[in-house]
Amino acid sequence: MSASTMRKTISIVVPAYNEQDNILPFHEALAPVLAGPLAAYDAEIIFVNDGSRDLTMARLRELAARDPRVKIISFSRNFGHQAAITAGLDRAAGDAIVTMDSDLQDPPALLPQLVEKWAAGTQIVYARRSGRSDNAFKRITADLYYRLLTRVSDVDIPRQVGDFRLVDRVVLDNLIRLGEHARYLRGMVAWLGFRHDFVDFERPNRLHGETHYPLRKMLKLAMDGLLNFTFMPLKIGFWVGLFSILLSGAFLLYMILDTLIHQQMNYYPLFKWLTVILLGFVGAQFIFLWILGEYIGRIYNDVRKRPLYVVGEEINLPRP
Ligand code: UDP
Ligand code: MG
Repeated sequence: MSASTMRKTISIVVPAYNEQDNILPFHEALAPVLAGPLAAYDAEIIFVNDGSRDLTMARLRELAARDPRVKIISFSRNFGHQAAITAGLDRAAGDAIVTMDSDLQDPPALLPQLVEKWAAGTQIVYARRSGRSDNAFKRITADLYYRLLTRVSDVDIPRQVGDFRLVDRVVLDNLIRLGEHARYLRGMVAWLGFRHDFVDFERPNRLHGETHYPLRKMLKLAMDGLLNFTFMPLKIGFWVGLFSILLSGAFLLYMILDTLIHQQMNYYPLFKWLTVILLGFVGAQFIFLWILGEYIGRIYNDVRKRPLYVVGEEINLPRP
């Protein structure tokens, strides 16, 4: 075997949505890391343009023209962060595959540490946020959410971990087999098992622009995380139902005793109490219908088997 075939390749998958001002700085930060500490490895950088409406694609074309390691998958429209990562993973050819954001919140300078752990035999290396410079609202809601998720989830999903991670080829090959439509990749990776470890880092603010995770998208991701990794919400109905039955039994008993003792329905307007309580339980039923609907919607999506994303153009990549 020649020396060059011994070299291992690291794939770096980078989703980008309206990141025109971050693409070049990202590449400038990454290139010296690849040329320096990671010089022993070949690299490919797969940018996934998630339907950007600014100059992101133009910037990516510039890069791809002068750096053959840069490959581009460009979606026909915005399909979302998780779909973008998925597309990059589907085409990644490396022995180790890193996913990271293009806004420099996931610092390329951390890569050597991730790769080092991998080279030592760890199959999944998570970059864990030891601090966040996000605003208080995001910090607190994220913290509450992850507490809840770890509590109810059937899988051990590590906390303070986003989508900045390195996975070994064998992990990726298995991850690709998970075809679910509503994707919560950090949960899916955790579900797979394998040896994992962490590298801690302080998450800086994004370099340019605003977050593309408004509350709506955050809630969707949060729902995917919860509903895809536990059936607990479906089971709440049992407890509320049980409580409701017991309560109505108590009322019935009360009415019977009251009638026997006083020979008539008493002055207190029991029906008012009952109406209010019934109203509460009717509301609860709608909540559980909604939870059912959420799961059924997911089943529908998976049964329909629509592709997760649509590629409009690819650059520097072989035909699939
Ligand atoms: N992103 C994407 N599609 C989207 C939203 C975001 O590809 O619909 C990319 C974005 O360009 C960035 C990464 O996903 O590289 C994380 O997004 P963002 O920085 O907005 O999220 P935050 O870091 O605020 O959680
Ligand atoms: Mg960001």
